[in-house]
Amino acid sequence: GRVWAKGMAMTSKEPHFTPLEFTRHAVGDNDILIDIMYSGICHSDIHMGKNEWRPTTYPYVGGHEIAGRVAKVGKNVTKFKVGDYAGIGCIINSCGECDHCKKGEEQFCEKGMIGTYQSKDYKHNDEITQGGYANNYVVSEKYAIKIPKNADMKRVAPLLCAGVTTYSPIHFSNVKKGDTVAVAGLGGLGHMAVQYLVKLGAKVTIFDLTEEKRADAKRLGAVAYVNVNNPVELKGQNEKFSFIISTIPAKYDPVMYVNMLKMGGEMAIVGLPANENTPTMTSSALVYAAHRKVYGSLIGGIPETQEMLDYSVANNIYPEVEIIPANKIDEAYQNVIDGKVKFRYVIDMATLNS
Ligand code: NDP
Ligand code: ZN
Repeated sequence: GRVWAKGMAMTSKEPHFTPLEFTRHAVGDNDILIDIMYSGICHSDIHMGKNEWRPTTYPYVGGHEIAGRVAKVGKNVTKFKVGDYAGIGCIINSCGECDHCKKGEEQFCEKGMIGTYQSKDYKHNDEITQGGYANNYVVSEKYAIKIPKNADMKRVAPLLCAGVTTYSPIHFSNVKKGDTVAVAGLGGLGHMAVQYLVKLGAKVTIFDLTEEKRADAKRLGAVAYVNVNNPVELKGQNEKFSFIISTIPAKYDPVMYVNMLKMGGEMAIVGLPANENTPTMTSSALVYAAHRKVYGSLIGGIPETQEMLDYSVANNIYPEVEIIPANKIDEAYQNVIDGKVKFRYVIDMATLNS
């Protein structure tokens, strides 16, 4: 029958969490039950909870950076056995039959990817999915990610969203050793982007708003840090970069960054601000900044997520995390909103019962 779950939920757009008991669909023949150990807090969880993208269904359990241990397997499951580590990112199912799904780009599924939370699960009677700030998750084995035994479980969860969302466009744009590149917004996603780019041997410049992150930028391996509030530092950045990734979750001027691209350079936008803060760029601005390419990028498919995870663990690339108990999510949300997190909060789900 259905699986009982316990999580932390928002019941309105106020970022306040209370315990919630709910159920998930039964563990089918191709499904696994994961006991969640750690759950990362992505800025997307906050946009969603605060109703900033589309109407949210409450109670809402966020969380799409999930790491845990397999507790149960359906009878057809071959990818996992009980006791294995497993992860879940932003996608928990999709039609599985369209061209995108067949290519392993389930985020572009023609019928729609089924998201880890706030998504209508058309494979399970249209129930609304609830996320990973919870003790468990039931997912089809195909959409679960294998986490190697030697992974650092405390730090692995944020790779499932922040990791793949930055890894994917870096490879889509074919960034290479020696390239001069930039990362706009040094937060959860941004600090992963920097690590992947540095590992590839690119020369990374970071753009953010504060002096507090200058030392972090250097520690992460960036060659330069630009405080965008300082006009002197902004001078001389135009036509400099072959690749820019923008993770900014607030209103800003994308044209400023487009103008920093070299001819033929590419800018990937992954930041998804609240609707009312969506940055705009005129078509004329693109004409004046001719022969640069600007594109959006949305997480990554399941095969690429697995590739990213294996690569990250093998190369010891992890987020910098602060582990918090389940009763501190309210505070954590406020700190992310205020820009005080370095660089990802991870909830220790074992604390749910205390
Ligand atoms: P964080 O809050 O951890 O990081 C955002 C960073 O951007 C912060 O360091 C912030 O600084 C900085 N920033 C804010 N405004 C500016 C500005 N004008 N110029 C430069 N830097 C700025 O968020 P996440 O990394 O978790 O998420 C980033 C965005 O990406 C969110 O909108 C999220 O929804 C989206 N996202 C998109 C995905 C996709 O598939 N495309 C997947 C996952 C997330 P400070 O903190 O000081 O304000
Ligand atoms: Zn996310």
